[in-house]
Amino acid sequence: MRCVALFWASALLALAGCQPRASIPQGVQVFFSPHGGATEAAVSALAQATNSVLVQAYSFTSAPLAQALVAAQRRGVSVQVILDRSQRTEKYSEADFLSHNEIPTLIDDRHAIAHNKIMIIDGYVILTGSFNFTKAAEEKNAENLLIINDPVLAKTYLENWHNHEQHSETYLRPTPVSSQNDAR
Ligand SMILES: [Zn+2]
Repeated sequence: MRCVALFWASALLALAGCQPRASIPQGVQVFFSPHGGATEAAVSALAQATNSVLVQAYSFTSAPLAQALVAAQRRGVSVQVILDRSQRTEKYSEADFLSHNEIPTLIDDRHAIAHNKIMIIDGYVILTGSFNFTKAAEEKNAENLLIINDPVLAKTYLENWHNHEQHSETYLRPTPVSSQNDAR
């Protein structure tokens, strides 16, 4: 009976054209920081992106994750990032690196804090949890990261991402203090 149910579930997914990719497990995976493999798992998921990656981040200082986004963008994946306004001035923010590498980078300053930590990959995989995209979240903090392979839930996340996109502004690289002084 179970085999029959599995067969029909697979057949329906195939017909719907949204069969989850085998490489990112179906269902939900969880990773606990510190040193629980969250960054590695996120980098691996990004390496498998083929179409789109949408990011919402409160703090984004993780070099491996920024590099994985740029690598995805360079192989033709559409990557877009929304960051909290703190990233305009955060010393170790990857905002400059991302925008310098031609990844559309937006700032959402319509909230007390834009506290989401979300990546939506190819419209069906969601990465979220308390895990900020930072070195500290990987190495020092107690955090959790969920990797959820669920096209239906991902649709809700996509809608919410685009709602925030509507009121976000393009990130502008700050003018270096030295050039301001030079201009005087
Ligand atoms: Zn917003």
